[in-house]
Amino acid sequence: VKLEISKVHDAYAAGGECPLCSLMDQAERSYLSSLGGARAMEPSVRVRTNQAGFCPRHYERLYKGENKLGLALMVHTHLAESLPRLKKILEGARQDRQKGPGPREELSAFREGCYLCGLLDTDLSRYAFTVIYLWKKDPEFAPVYRASRGFCLGHFPAVLDAARANLRGPELERWAGETAGLMSASLERLEREVLGFTQLHQASVKSLGTEEERTALARALQVLAGRIMSRD
Ligand SMILES: [Zn+2]
Ligand SMILES: [Zn+2]
Repeated sequence: VKLEISKVHDAYAAGGECPLCSLMDQAERSYLSSLGGARAMEPSVRVRTNQAGFCPRHYERLYKGENKLGLALMVHTHLAESLPRLKKILEGARQDRQKGPGPREELSAFREGCYLCGLLDTDLSRYAFTVIYLWKKDPEFAPVYRASRGFCLGHFPAVLDAARANLRGPELERWAGETAGLMSASLERLEREVLGFTQLHQASVKSLGTEEERTALARALQVLAGRIMSRD
């Protein structure tokens, strides 16, 4: 596994609710912008987008981007390549089958396949592995980790997988205890902060509140949803 030490250090230095949310947001933006450019034309990329296509969320993000021609070319070859499979699924709807996956399951598997999500899954395991590696090997990282807010609920499972694969016995127990403590404290703090946010918005005397108070809802949603909330 390739380590991403400097990126992980930077994400911890920036703080926030979940370092993996920031890293994944950066990775996603850079893939989207490169797919909006010349990368959409690279043969190795085209082979994979023809086959997998994109998930609904990433189609929408790409459609909101600048490169409509590049997207149309990818969508055209993906559709052309997928026609036999799609026709077969639709034909299957005529049969009253009880065994095996039906058209509903087959279509949802088709729609969830995504070139970009595939790249991001690989990045996520790499980042999670690096966090566990640093926690285990770098004595200077330990206090940084303990001062962090743990992880969002969306990214915690990836770190847990990395921990279970790379830590043993008492070490795994110590990591799990430390992390559960950080995350429980975060959830309790966010519960209070969101209440504060509602009070700020209900106050008869309008106050702007502090930066922490203004961002409380976005941060709570990030931890629940597993992604940074943005308006774009
Ligand atoms: Zn996260
Ligand atoms: Zn996707």
